[in-house]
Amino acid sequence: MIASRLVAWQRRHGRNDLPWQNTRDAYRVWLSEIMLQQTRVSSVVPYFLRFVERFPTVQALAAADEDEVLALWSGLGYYSRARNLHRCARELVERRGGVFPSEPAELERLPGVGRSTAAAIAVFAFGRRAAILDGNVRRVLARWAGIRGHAGEPAVLAALWSAAERELPHDSLEAYTQGLMDLGASLCSRTRPACGLCPIAENCVARREGLLDSIPGRRPPRALPLRERTWLVIRRAREVLVEKRAPAGVWGGMWSLPEAEADDAGNAAELALRRFALRTRAGVELAAVDHVFTHFRLRARPVVLECEDARACRDGDPRAGRWLALERADDAPLPAPVKTLLRALREPLREPDAGSGTGGSATAA
Ligand code: SF4
Repeated sequence: MIASRLVAWQRRHGRNDLPWQNTRDAYRVWLSEIMLQQTRVSSVVPYFLRFVERFPTVQALAAADEDEVLALWSGLGYYSRARNLHRCARELVERRGGVFPSEPAELERLPGVGRSTAAAIAVFAFGRRAAILDGNVRRVLARWAGIRGHAGEPAVLAALWSAAERELPHDSLEAYTQGLMDLGASLCSRTRPACGLCPIAENCVARREGLLDSIPGRRPPRALPLRERTWLVIRRAREVLVEKRAPAGVWGGMWSLPEAEADDAGNAAELALRRFALRTRAGVELAAVDHVFTHFRLRARPVVLECEDARACRDGDPRAGRWLALERADDAPLPAPVKTLLRALREPLREPDAGSGTGGSATAA
């Protein structure tokens, strides 16, 4: 049993004053748990504080415009979390008067809440007894119990859940749950875990058998397919045209640059005329923007088109998108790589170096 050692260690060395701790406010607990999915605590803290300042209650979040929610989320990645968060708030307010359920099984039925997140909310907001198994906790339990293989394999995942349930104590559940999270985020790191300081080192199989490099097992390698696209950067003085993306799929519901097939780069001006009734003059093609999603790699080639006749622009027509001032791009609900590109457009344009790209980070749609 690891519980008593872990609880004692957490109380002494763990994190006990994060902005979503020391409260039974299910709204704050839920919000933090959604933000923490696949994201580090240090990245989440400023987003969490901005969110609760702007939306102090689930009712305030439910009443918000989706664009505002996405704008506040912009940069945190995995945008489906933001859309589900908003949907979940609306569902809670409409169907349950804004009251969160306390049972893990009921929590799990809410949009964007999986088994581990439901358990964490139940523990921290309601003091329930439930096992969590987020990414860091999987690593700790896999090493401690000597569970080989990658958690993407159903048998491995089942063995991990079974270890999580088996070790779950009957009391001090919050300190125990937080302790597992803290251990995974600190001492039991992916590379070079600090086993000498670990409170559960004594019975750790991976440590004893020298398996720290092989447990947890790596994901079988897979080549991510490449999707190539053209981005139309239609400029009118210090503004660019952006349009709202479809609600489902990559960057769903966010605003972005109009997109076209990769081989449409040469017809960009014609597309601008056809899709937006805008007469434009083809400008420079900028360096490609590369971005890695969980299931594919995106390579977007931005083509800058200067709008020739500002009076021809159909302002107010939703089919025509919306003009966005470059200076306001940082606060708009745009994906991070688009923001980076628009930030660069505030400076005078330069021809790209051959073969260069702006790079990108890994996110999920
Ligand atoms: S002993 Fe090392 S590998 Fe085992 S749980 Fe502790 S930090 Fe992780």
